[in-house]
Amino acid sequence: MNRPFRFFSALIGVACIGACAVPSARVKTSSAEVSTTTTPAAQNSALEEPSVLQSDSPESEQEKIQHHKIVRVLLAENQPEAFIKHSNRVNIFTQDETKKYKISQAGTIAVKGLANGQIQVGTLKSTQPVWIEPADATLEWKSNSYTGKFLILPGTGSTFSIVEYVKLEDYLYGVLPYEMSPSWPVEALKAQAVAARTYTLKSLENVKNKNFDLYSDVRSQMYRGNGKRYDNVTRAIDETKGEILTYQDNLFFTYYHANCGGATDDVSSWHFSTKSIKPLSGASCNFDSHSKSYSWSMTIPTSKVEKYAQSVGLKGTLKSIRIVRKTGTGRATNLTLSTTKGSKTVPCGAFRLATGIRSCKITRVATTTKGVQFAGRGYGHGIGMCQDGAYGMAKRNHSYKEILKHYYPGASLEQLK
Ligand SMILES: [Zn+2]
Repeated sequence: MNRPFRFFSALIGVACIGACAVPSARVKTSSAEVSTTTTPAAQNSALEEPSVLQSDSPESEQEKIQHHKIVRVLLAENQPEAFIKHSNRVNIFTQDETKKYKISQAGTIAVKGLANGQIQVGTLKSTQPVWIEPADATLEWKSNSYTGKFLILPGTGSTFSIVEYVKLEDYLYGVLPYEMSPSWPVEALKAQAVAARTYTLKSLENVKNKNFDLYSDVRSQMYRGNGKRYDNVTRAIDETKGEILTYQDNLFFTYYHANCGGATDDVSSWHFSTKSIKPLSGASCNFDSHSKSYSWSMTIPTSKVEKYAQSVGLKGTLKSIRIVRKTGTGRATNLTLSTTKGSKTVPCGAFRLATGIRSCKITRVATTTKGVQFAGRGYGHGIGMCQDGAYGMAKRNHSYKEILKHYYPGASLEQLK
């Protein structure tokens, strides 16, 4: 493929929207783990491309970012204070390089927001953004370690933001363990690596924010630094290095979700897009019934549903919930909520996110004195790759290429140049 990637377009949505195939308890554990492993020099972009960040014009900087596939990840905003550890020497300098100094050994840098738009990074005070560039080092913040370099951006009211500039492949090391369990078969992880890589690059086409490309939470993809490595995750990313999915020579949003409940849906039949493309047109799935997410029942407090109803302008006490429209695979697209004050039809996707029901493939709903009882199938939005299905296919000796072909039919696997 010989098409330049454009690095600015809207982040349309989250790949898995809070329903990825990773238990939340494990995510919490991982984010609390400390890794002080020194990154090999070959993986440290700070050593390889020291000039990437010091261009004269925004255009040339973007060309360099594009060339090296650098991703700018917002780690924090509106911070009054931060303590950033470094495992070896670091260079600290203002964006125009008029102020700079080095620290030649491991330590901790205190970052503070000062009055009048100033920030203090170690001993350096500036109204300009300040770089913390590790050399033979990783940076560590809030118990997560990072191989990229940090840009500290002055904010309003004595605060600052932290943006990490990290190579695309290095970024994926910090995404994959939070989007799919690292203990899963490597072919499933490889499929996830290609999907996450493609989703990231597609997200970068129209970034709205001037100073960063991606959030480090569910607004983009979960990212907790890449210092903690897992063998199968590393292998999955390395063995698919640069591989992406395209359709008719274009990237597309390679959505994924935890469990489809037997079939994925057409993206146009759902709330994501009005336009269908073949790779997101839906697929049968006979590989996900082993999971506890395949079939579920849960009770939602009536007050939670009433609170959502109020947020869309419907007051009163809840009387009933009725499915008014379904996709061909049985996923509710719209629900009608009825209360003592009236009724309102709402998108099931928004209702799911507000109330926490696992999916809109609802098989039963009943209002009771104990709450609203739901039964259903699947976990997540049901578009693109079913992660439990990818696991099931890998367990049956399907390759990652076969998994991708099944869940993104008609897509081409290509190599980034
Ligand atoms: Zn499935």
